[in-house]
Amino acid sequence: MLDVLFLGTGASLPSRDRALPGVAVRNGPDIVLFDCGEGTQRQIMVSPFSFMKLRAVFVTHMHGDHFYGLPGLLQTMGMMNRREPLTVCGPEGFSAALGTALGLCEGEIPYELDVRDVSPGDVVRAGRMGVSVFATDHGIRSQGYVLREPDSTGRVDPNKARALGLPSEDVRRVVGGEAVGGVSYADIAAPDRRGASLAYTGDTRPCVTLDEAVAGADAIVHESTYSADDADLAGRYLHSTCADAAAAAARAGAKALFLVHVSNRYKDRRRLLEQARAVFPETYVPEDLALYHVTRNGVR
Ligand SMILES: [Zn+2]
Ligand SMILES: [Zn+2]
Repeated sequence: MLDVLFLGTGASLPSRDRALPGVAVRNGPDIVLFDCGEGTQRQIMVSPFSFMKLRAVFVTHMHGDHFYGLPGLLQTMGMMNRREPLTVCGPEGFSAALGTALGLCEGEIPYELDVRDVSPGDVVRAGRMGVSVFATDHGIRSQGYVLREPDSTGRVDPNKARALGLPSEDVRRVVGGEAVGGVSYADIAAPDRRGASLAYTGDTRPCVTLDEAVAGADAIVHESTYSADDADLAGRYLHSTCADAAAAAARAGAKALFLVHVSNRYKDRRRLLEQARAVFPETYVPEDLALYHVTRNGVR
């Protein structure tokens, strides 16, 4: 299961109700953060998540609303005695930009910081999760990410063991690697369970590379800067409408779509929700700090 926490659902500039982009995903003891707008660290502080459990941060592109929160977050974790290493990734040019930002101020980061420029096709380990990179189309170098929960290996299926007449003592021996009376582990194991997956687009207009990368994802967190009525603005500024996002989710066969990066011009977001649901019914427009749970079977 992936716990998905929407830290900031606004776009470009913060509002009274919406912080700048940031979505955290927790799987067991590990947390991954996608984008880190200014103020993200405080949003984490008032959430149920701990940023000391962050394993990796992935920035989609170098527009300030997605990046300016990162230097402060890294510094705060140091001041709170973080000692565990942290991986931080972004598109080409990211590590130089972060180095410049950190170099502007005095003080050291007292934990190992693994800063990487990553490119479409790369896969990065983040705790037990894997995160792959895909290209998006936003007028500057930009990319999205697909996060995968690890597959769980088949555990013992008690019904199978019982059907084979295997007493619990022999089950333990089989689990230990022995074949007992011709019964091996594969004979009593439940099928492997594939982990859930979640795609995070960052800012982008619709594009083929996105479609290819998010196909089959269980949930998609898609930018939706504009309503369907403002498709001309979305085209001009290389963003997506809620209808674009819904169409992408439908093509991907996703189980759920979350719309984020919604422009402040829309005081009432229900219209965007209705327009998207007309195309893809399982659409949500989360509020800041909303927490959802994504599994292979859907969202709750
Ligand atoms: Zn943005
Ligand atoms: Zn942008």
